[in-house]
Formats: sequence, C-alpha cells, structure tokens
Amino acid sequence: MNQYAGMTGSAGRNTPLCDLRSDTVTRPDAGMQAAMAAAELGDDVYGEDPCVNRLERSLAERLGKEAGLFLPTGTMSNLAGLLAHCQRGEEILVGRNYHVYRYEAAGASVLGGIALCPLAVGATGGLDPTEIASEVKPDDSHLAVSRLLSLENTHNGMAVSLAETSGAAKTARRHGLAVHLDGARFFNAVAALGCDELALAGIPDTISICLSKGLGAPAGSVLVGPADLIARARRWRKMLGGGMRQSGVLAAAGLYALEHNVQALSDDHCRAERLAEVLHSLGVGVVQQASNMVFFTPPEGTHRDLRAALASEGVIIGGADSGAIRLVLHRDISDDALEVAIDGIGRFFSN
Ligand SMILES: *Cc1c(COP(=O)(O)O)cnc(C)c1O
Repeated sequence: MNQYAGMTGSAGRNTPLCDLRSDTVTRPDAGMQAAMAAAELGDDVYGEDPCVNRLERSLAERLGKEAGLFLPTGTMSNLAGLLAHCQRGEEILVGRNYHVYRYEAAGASVLGGIALCPLAVGATGGLDPTEIASEVKPDDSHLAVSRLLSLENTHNGMAVSLAETSGAAKTARRHGLAVHLDGARFFNAVAALGCDELALAGIPDTISICLSKGLGAPAGSVLVGPADLIARARRWRKMLGGGMRQSGVLAAAGLYALEHNVQALSDDHCRAERLAEVLHSLGVGVVQQASNMVFFTPPEGTHRDLRAALASEGVIIGGADSGAIRLVLHRDISDDALEVAIDGIGRFFSN
C-alpha cells in the first residue's frame, strides 16, 4: 500500500475540523507563532543564525550526540545523513517498506551512487538480525561494499522495542556497519515505549528527527550524530540546496516544539486507541493501532463513499479506494473533533 495514496488536494481551502490524513498537517499554534515572531535571526549558511545554532546544539546534547544539523525536510535530512555515511559503490541495508527505501525517490542511489539493499520488515516493525548478517557482503570485487544499516522508528506507527533495535544494531556493528535511524517520529517512539530518550538515541550513530509532524512545527528536521559526520552532511546540505538563510524563524518553531509539544504526543496515542476501539466495536473491518496511527480496512467498495460522507462533515481521510486507510492522530485533533469523526463513521456504517 502507498501510504500517500489519495492524500493531495481533498482538503479544500478551509481548515478542516478533523484532518486524519497525516500529522504533517499540524499548524503552528499561537505560542509557536509568537516564538517565531520573536526569533533573533542571522544567516545560517554563515553559521550566524542564533536560533538554528541553539536548535542544533540543544537537540544533539539532549540525545547524547556531538553535533546537529537543521534541514528543511526529513527526506533531505535522511539523504544528507546517508551521503555522509557512504561513498559511491557502497551499500545501505534498509527495510523494504521503510521511508528511506520506498518513499525518498531512491535519492541515495540517484545522487550518491549508493546501492540500497531491501530487507523484510518484521511484524513489529524491526529487522531480523539473521537477515542483516546474511545480506552483509563479503570482501569480494564482484560485490557492493556494505557500509550502513538504516533503521526506522516508529514504522507505520509501531514503536520498535529497545531490545529489537539494539539487536539489529549490534549485528550491523559486528559486521563493520554504521547505523542510521530514520526517527521522523522519534519522540512518538519514546512515548510509546515509555523509555528514556537517551536509551533509544544511544543505539544508532545518526538520527534524523522531523519537527514538522506531531511536534507541530511548520517545517524542518534535525540530523544528529558524530561531529565529523555532521560536518560532511553540512556540505551535502549546501549541495542539495538546503542551505537556508534566516532559517531561525523555522528553528524557533522547532525549539518551541521540543520544549512544549513532546509531552502531549502520548495524548495523541490515547486518542488513536480510542478511535481504534470504536472502529473495532463497529465490526466492519480490520483495525490496527500503534502510537498515533490507526490502519482501518473498511469493506471493499465503501472507501469512496465513506471518504465523501466524512468530508461533508469536515473530517478528512486519505487512502486509496481499496485496502487499508491510515488515520493519524495529532495535536490539531481535539477530543471534540475526534468525537465528530467517530460519530460520522458510526453513522456511515449504521446506514
Ligand atoms: C515523514 C517521514 C520522513 C520525511 O518526510 P518529509 O516529508 O521529507 O519531511 C522520513 N521518514 C519517515 C518514516 C517519515 O514518516
């Protein structure tokens, strides 16, 4: 399933009451806008933007890493990280359904001459150490040079446990690979696992974290890791066109998000549980829930009508016209808005 199917253009001009397509739709609230308006700015390509510098330094420190790099998107953050880790002719082992493999237009291959070796993703969202070990290439001039393992957490909302994550990472390291974590929803993973941030952050070498999803910032991701690697990623960021100037106006939103919006992620997880319970009780389709996501597979042939019925009430859902629809809870869906969605879904299936 393509998680982006049917995502564009259906929300119309006005703010929908309840937009369940993605947590990327979150908008800056009044507090965040005030922080953005008050941001002291400079030219970040010259290294002179105080907010960007503070964001990079503070998130790196918080996660026990030497350095950080602010980038416009999670895709560029992953890409700059992968390009910093690997040379041409080298290879990244990555989950077949992970964002890096599937939804980033094979950027590492196109721009870096890096091979992507897809691995099966397990039912809990992680990778199997045995498969990792068997896919690492021996030193043979016929073969790519295996260099990096790229993990993802959360994956489809699933928080991969510390044990599973470190099992995969240990296997990779034993074979001489470095480890990258696509932690677009790193703080959702921490909240769902109920673990210490440093416990998860300590496993990979580099982590990419999105500020523009459940954390509510309008744009931006941060890559954290060892200083030499982040310096190389900084050069790639410039080459990729991601060197922004007074980007402190965005970094200020990120700083605000990291200070104020992390705690509330678990409220989104509770709302996802509530939605999943209701859908389950309707007994009309398969329901799976993990952290802030619910995957709902309504009966074949009902997708289009369900989408239209909900849209007329200001409730927006994505998804294709068959299979699972991904419903994502986030800070712009209040308890009241969720109840409107729940009522709408209940009414649709009782008719
Ligand atoms: C959203 C996301 C990204 C990055 O997406 P951008 O839209 O480029 O910010 C990367 N990985 C995962 C798992 C994601 O969900």
